[in-house]
Amino acid sequence: MIELPQSARTIIDSLKHAGLEAYAVGGSVRDLLMGRPTKGWDFTTSAKPEDLLNIFPDSFYDNQFGTVGIKMPDDIYEVTTYRSEKEYSDHRHPDNIEWGKTLTEDLSRRDFTINAIAYDGKTLTDPYHGQEDLKNKIIRAVGDPAKRIEEDALRQMRAVRIASELGFMIEPATLGAIKKNVHLIQDISVERVRDELLRILASPFAADGILLLKQTGLLKIILPELDAAFAIGQKSPARHHIYDVGTHSVMALKHCTSKDPVVRLATLLHDIGKVPTYKVDEKGIITFYNHEMVSTKLTKAIVNRLRFSRKQIEKILTLIRWHQFTVDERQTDNALRRFIRHVGRENLTDMLALRTGDRLGGGAAETSWRMELFKKRLEEVQKQPFTVADLKINGFDVMKTLKIKPGPEVGKVLSDLFAEVEAGKLKNEREELLARLKQFPLN
Ligand code: ATP
Ligand code: MG
Repeated sequence: MIELPQSARTIIDSLKHAGLEAYAVGGSVRDLLMGRPTKGWDFTTSAKPEDLLNIFPDSFYDNQFGTVGIKMPDDIYEVTTYRSEKEYSDHRHPDNIEWGKTLTEDLSRRDFTINAIAYDGKTLTDPYHGQEDLKNKIIRAVGDPAKRIEEDALRQMRAVRIASELGFMIEPATLGAIKKNVHLIQDISVERVRDELLRILASPFAADGILLLKQTGLLKIILPELDAAFAIGQKSPARHHIYDVGTHSVMALKHCTSKDPVVRLATLLHDIGKVPTYKVDEKGIITFYNHEMVSTKLTKAIVNRLRFSRKQIEKILTLIRWHQFTVDERQTDNALRRFIRHVGRENLTDMLALRTGDRLGGGAAETSWRMELFKKRLEEVQKQPFTVADLKINGFDVMKTLKIKPGPEVGKVLSDLFAEVEAGKLKNEREELLARLKQFPLN
């Protein structure tokens, strides 16, 4: 017998005492049956929102979703009245939401069999054999797949997302219905599509998820720039590449060492500029001259289209713009410092995560002494001051020592000192800097 947590039992029992029906349902029951921690509890009930507000004084009604949130000591629990949704005509919103009369009716409007299992703490109600599909790792639409996808096209993304979160297969009829109706995804708001895409990227089977998007035809609509990369071969004499650009991108994603979906997206898109820059020379050598600039430009259009935040956009574009950085033991410290300035110290770990994905996704060996040395050197050069602000003295020291007023002269002196420190002529130590300061002005 599976155990519901205390708060979930309290909610169900309180409603039963009032003569109403209540069940845990959806992702939480799915997770419980799989023995996984759950992210959020969903309940379905015969109680109307006003009943819920009466029974639970510490609750509030969310008009938009018809959901009541109940504050319990540990969390907020979402309770939704039985629904029956009929007649979708814009592939997004039911034309009229009506309260359903029975649990069976409510379960019949849910998307997939594994999400249509209800549990009241004693009995599992599973009219669509969701437990069977859960055991066999299958995502299957409730009822007629074509109809269900036509009703709500977001279910296409949800199918792929849940498959990549759980490592499940989409059953053939459901997959077929998705493939046949991919164009309908254009009726869904970009924000909702983007959020599902981010969840696919953040999932344990992200690479498989992207391949599923490719296979269904969704990728061609959501990310046509990446879809086109699967047609670009890069096998040529004297080149290490074994995959086409699209497959390489997915392999890079698979090997990217960051779990952050934003960094993973940058990794996935870092080479899309190879599509328009593809050239074959007389010797049969394939080149992608300047592809990182073109990748950056194409990605900029993508992230704007998908309405990413300013901060996310800046990170994604920076990572892609500089992904071709040189890793060479003969590089000077100054070259390393220039690299760090371009990428930004806050993005260094993510830049390396992308690069590791890129390398391993191209079939390179697990460890590279060059890369390890490069990382060590990055740490070393960062111990040196990076900007004037890192100097152990500041503008006040300059003004006091040289008896000058605030003005551009102060900044000039500081940057002259910084240049000497950077060139290794002077240590970034307060006493030494003050002593040197006394010798100013230099000319
Ligand atoms: P998770 O919470 O882990 O994302 P979930 O399956 O609980 O997964 P929610 O978005 O919380 O997903 O939705 C809760 C339940 O509501 C689902 O399990 C499913 O039964 C139902 N549901 C959600 N979205 C849809 C939809 N677009 N069409 C039909 N049923 C849906
Ligand atoms: Mg949920």
